[in-house]
Amino acid sequence: MKAASFVYHRAGSTAEAVTLLDDYQGSARILAGGQSLLPMLNMRLWRPGALIDINGIDELTRVRVEGPTTVLGALVRYSTIEHDPVIAERLPLLARVVRHIGDRQVRNRGTLGGSLVQADPTGEMPLVCLLLGATVRAMGPRGSREIPVAQLYAGSYATVLDPDELVTEIAFPAAPAHVAFAERCRRHNDFAVLSVAATGDRGPGGRWSGLRIGLGGVADTAVLAPAAAAALDGTGLADDAIEQAARLALDVIDPPTDVRASAEYRRHLVPVYVRRVLAELRRSGPGASGTSTSNGRTS
Ligand SMILES: Cc1cc2nc3c(=O)[nH]c(=O)nc-3n(C[C@H](O)[C@H](O)[C@H](O)COP(=O)(O)OP(=O)(O)OC[C@H]3O[C@@H](n4cnc5c(N)ncnc54)[C@H](O)[C@@H]3O)c2cc1C
Repeated sequence: MKAASFVYHRAGSTAEAVTLLDDYQGSARILAGGQSLLPMLNMRLWRPGALIDINGIDELTRVRVEGPTTVLGALVRYSTIEHDPVIAERLPLLARVVRHIGDRQVRNRGTLGGSLVQADPTGEMPLVCLLLGATVRAMGPRGSREIPVAQLYAGSYATVLDPDELVTEIAFPAAPAHVAFAERCRRHNDFAVLSVAATGDRGPGGRWSGLRIGLGGVADTAVLAPAAAAALDGTGLADDAIEQAARLALDVIDPPTDVRASAEYRRHLVPVYVRRVLAELRRSGPGASGTSTSNGRTS
């Protein structure tokens, strides 16, 4: 099947893209990497009146440093996230996890902004952006606003963005010293059944602080597990503390049944993967390079 007809515009600036969005009063869609949009068009699940191509807007491709904050343009591609030295140094979790998305072709085209707006509950980027406390900067006909990723989602594949808003940048605060990640996929290159990521800082006495645990694929959106993280605060991540956190993580999930897995299977996997990721985090303490990422895809 092919897409229904639409008008194509190539915007030369963010202001022009916003003006075009305004002109179409909600019936236009932004074209970024096209990795989700084009399949949706070809299956005729979406029939926008117009596509506004933002691939010619250079300012959206930039990676900038603003003091402790790292700012990525919405059009920064996954392949840039994989290889950019600033991202590798300042946001190592993002750089590591992006390699789990799709295949080389998808990563050459797909963008951070597109992934966040697509709002796939199994998406790796929404999970990592939530865990790292990122904020989305959006521009619309009524001006600009900042939306923490924690408040970006209205549900599965749904954001709080207005149809005439353009995501321009994603801003990340300074990242914690230690990170870990693992996900379960049915097969190589498939979307994840579930993903778990954790961050934290380890003090000189071996006590952990600032822990955060995030889960993807087990609710309408990526979710944090604050009670599980709080149970570990001030501990040395001993096995019994990890076990308690793994059980507490079950309180925040509401897993779906879909073509990839049943809700029951996802529920079974959550404590298994929380334990695995926290054990990785513990191993990333003093003497390690500062970043620990578990081997991720397991089939
Ligand atoms: C074979 C395959 C495998 C994949 N595997 C994975 C995977 O393992 N994990 C994963 O997370 N994803 C996966 N994806 C999806 C991929 O990550 C998409 O690239 C991503 O979801 C959308 O990014 P995009 O830049 O391609 O956006 P597009 O497809 O261009 O757009 C997606 C949506 O976001 C909107 N949009 C895009 N940019 C903006 C913006 N700046 N402001 C406002 N709205 C905007 C569009 O209008 C559209 O509604 C896969 C895709 C394919 C084809």
